Amino acid sequence: MDRRGFTSGLLGAGALLAGPAPLFAETDPTPVRTPYGGPNVIVIRFGGGVRRRETIDPDHTYSPYLRHVLARRGTLFTNMRIASQEGIVTSHAQGTLYILTGRYDRYVDVEARIFSERYEPKAPTIFEYLRKVYRVPRHQALIVNGEDRVNEDFLTFSTDHLYGVDYRSSVLSLHWFKLYLVRRRLRENRVSARERERLEKQLAELEARNYRPDAPDRQAPRLQDFWRRWRRHYGDSGLVNPRGDRLLTELSVRAIKELRPRLMMVNYQDPDYVHWGNLSHYTRAISIIDQGIQRLVETVEADEEYRGNTVFVVVPDCGRDNNPLMEVSCQHHFNSRSAHEIWALVAGPGIARDVIVDRPVEQIAIAGTVAQIMSFGADQSEGEVLAECFA
Ligand SMILES: [Zn+2]
Repeated sequence: MDRRGFTSGLLGAGALLAGPAPLFAETDPTPVRTPYGGPNVIVIRFGGGVRRRETIDPDHTYSPYLRHVLARRGTLFTNMRIASQEGIVTSHAQGTLYILTGRYDRYVDVEARIFSERYEPKAPTIFEYLRKVYRVPRHQALIVNGEDRVNEDFLTFSTDHLYGVDYRSSVLSLHWFKLYLVRRRLRENRVSARERERLEKQLAELEARNYRPDAPDRQAPRLQDFWRRWRRHYGDSGLVNPRGDRLLTELSVRAIKELRPRLMMVNYQDPDYVHWGNLSHYTRAISIIDQGIQRLVETVEADEEYRGNTVFVVVPDCGRDNNPLMEVSCQHHFNSRSAHEIWALVAGPGIARDVIVDRPVEQIAIAGTVAQIMSFGADQSEGEVLAECFA
């Protein structure tokens, strides 16, 4: 029996025992949790793999806001690394999981399919730790994703049996908008028979992307309201809304205004287009992320509840090669030394300002540092807490 069949079999048995109660009711798994009163945290994955040179090197940066403005208001770790050990991969989903869990676990596809990257976090993510301790609803624990790596939309909860799906985060991405839209349209009367057939096929394709059947792909009601407003603004075509990493900024700004997230991770990715061999795609994408960060900071500062109560944590998923034999030296990120070299910036209330730390630190320190800022335990995280930013 495949995983999906096995799991739905289990769910079927459970439903039989439990009677006709809805399987996926939005129940509160830990009713005693206290309300969250600490600072909001926005983790920005400066993603798609970037080198230090084009981001935090003050003389060569394409990200001037990050390097010359935001870094002055926070603590910049210029020598963060992804550890060099067997099984540790300098790539996008892996780096994201190292950030989310605070561990360098090895990952293989859920069905061990080659070139398929359907991973499951093995240890709790920072979202699960937060939601297990505090009463933070799912729509305020958000991951904002791009449109190219739908697999990453399912990195929302771990397989740890004490945490897992009850404490998962929600995702805002075009994949989720399409799911919302197709389901809505199928309920509308004016859809022709032919169109209905097309939509049903599209829905089946979208649903098949979910490789984690224990997580139903139904979104919380507040998120459906979010998409309803998005649709009213941008329509159905998908051609009017911003694309690429600009889309992530737009989704994140709207999320701050409409959903009031406590913990949000924004997974930028477009510098990775340099895989195709054009350096300007890379440098331009870095500038677009920089503008996105500036807009997010300005959105926070214009908001009475977020201003002075929101910490930004910016970190790449991985570095990139520095290969002089290639025409574009940073085209890939093949586990070279430079692909392990990243950095992190922490900025906001309670964080030391205008400090540069150049001792070696690890990417897996991000989870414990977020845990410290938000006052929850991340007991399975193996990274240190970046103490200098609290000095
Ligand atoms: Zn890549």
